[in-house]
Amino acid sequence: MNRNDFPLLRSDSPIVYLDSAATSLKPQPVIDAVVDYYQNYPVNVARGLYSLGIKATEKFETAREKIAKFINAPHTEEIIFVRGTTEAINLVAYSWGRLNITEGDEIVTTVMDHHSNFIPWQQLALENGATLKMIDISDNGDLDIFDDKILNSKSQVPNKFKIQISKLKTIITKKTKLVAIPHVSNVLGTINPVKEIISEVKRINPHCLVLIDGAQGAPHMPVDVQEIGCDFYAFSGHKMLGPTGIGVLWGRKELLEEMAPFQFGGSMIRKVAIEQTTFADLPAKFEGGTPHIAGVLGLGAAVEYLEKIGMVEIRKHEREMTEYALARLKEFNNIQIYGPEDAKYRAGVLTFNLHNEKGRLIHPHDVGEVLARENICVRVGHHCAMPLHTRLGTPASVRASLYIYNEKKDVDRLIEGLRKVREVFS
Ligand code: PMP
Repeated sequence: MNRNDFPLLRSDSPIVYLDSAATSLKPQPVIDAVVDYYQNYPVNVARGLYSLGIKATEKFETAREKIAKFINAPHTEEIIFVRGTTEAINLVAYSWGRLNITEGDEIVTTVMDHHSNFIPWQQLALENGATLKMIDISDNGDLDIFDDKILNSKSQVPNKFKIQISKLKTIITKKTKLVAIPHVSNVLGTINPVKEIISEVKRINPHCLVLIDGAQGAPHMPVDVQEIGCDFYAFSGHKMLGPTGIGVLWGRKELLEEMAPFQFGGSMIRKVAIEQTTFADLPAKFEGGTPHIAGVLGLGAAVEYLEKIGMVEIRKHEREMTEYALARLKEFNNIQIYGPEDAKYRAGVLTFNLHNEKGRLIHPHDVGEVLARENICVRVGHHCAMPLHTRLGTPASVRASLYIYNEKKDVDRLIEGLRKVREVFS
């Protein structure tokens, strides 16, 4: 990885970018792919029979194939282009949820979910008379479904994710229609062992579907939807070097085929008559209207860029950086770091609250402002996870998040910045 590929990090840039969980920076090949489209073949897809239209359509569908391979989707047409994770989850909540969730059904989500994977289910449950159940977290920031004895026994760390079936059975029942969980928490950094969780959920209730919010997963580690065993996987292009406004819903073909369209309009039909309309096959059925063509092409270029480095390498780099950042943050005597202690089980998301020498909380917004003066970009607030902050007993926190282009010197600058914060608010 060459930092110079990222215009914002070139040469003597003063910027320390530690907000990749919000959105990532974009490398030159992604910018080039977008510009190339607008400059050289800026026409619509799946319509024109002229050569520019054919070129645009071919490139668009090639990007879809690349993305399908990236997550090991069994069928390319299972890749549905949407605006982002938010739209992907809402699509499932509307198209699948409103057909399948009825009074008395149960939907399960977690207290660590982003609002995007919580509110759609909460609203669906309220509308249809279903019950919304939440999986809590334990004190170390893991989902509270694991065997405590194993969690607390250092010697058995490899078995850390032994699920306590009796605990899971209090949440997942025969009435559970859907479980929606994040691959990685955007606040705690917790990497959930989704494959193991899904396997136990399906053992308890084989009819229950599982949706994974992969917004913080797909950008940072290898994802194989077949191996994970989920039914839906949602992610956003802009968090994985791609443009904003483009994301992906992957779903199992037989489920997507049964689902009703989410939006009606051009390009998603087979035949329209005054009396009735029949709809196109996948993926067109869910892609009504002109798509975000430049976004798709940019995302294709982003996937190519990530694959050139290798997702295993990316995860390795982030784990090393996370280990380093955790150790350096712990140099402060009055800091509360949220989430798993071991970088093996957490992504490069470092959320914390800093206190002054007297033990008083330095408000996250004050921390963010002092850091901003030093050109250090972090996020402060509730990070679209208010139920989690309520659970953690704090209204807000500071979040520094890492990606492929971050180096130890960025973490060092953060630590220097935090020392300044402590001086200002001593
Ligand atoms: N889920 C998680 C875990 C996220 O971190 C985010 C983005 N912060 C989203 C969902 C929503 O993604 P988007 O805004 O791209 O739709």
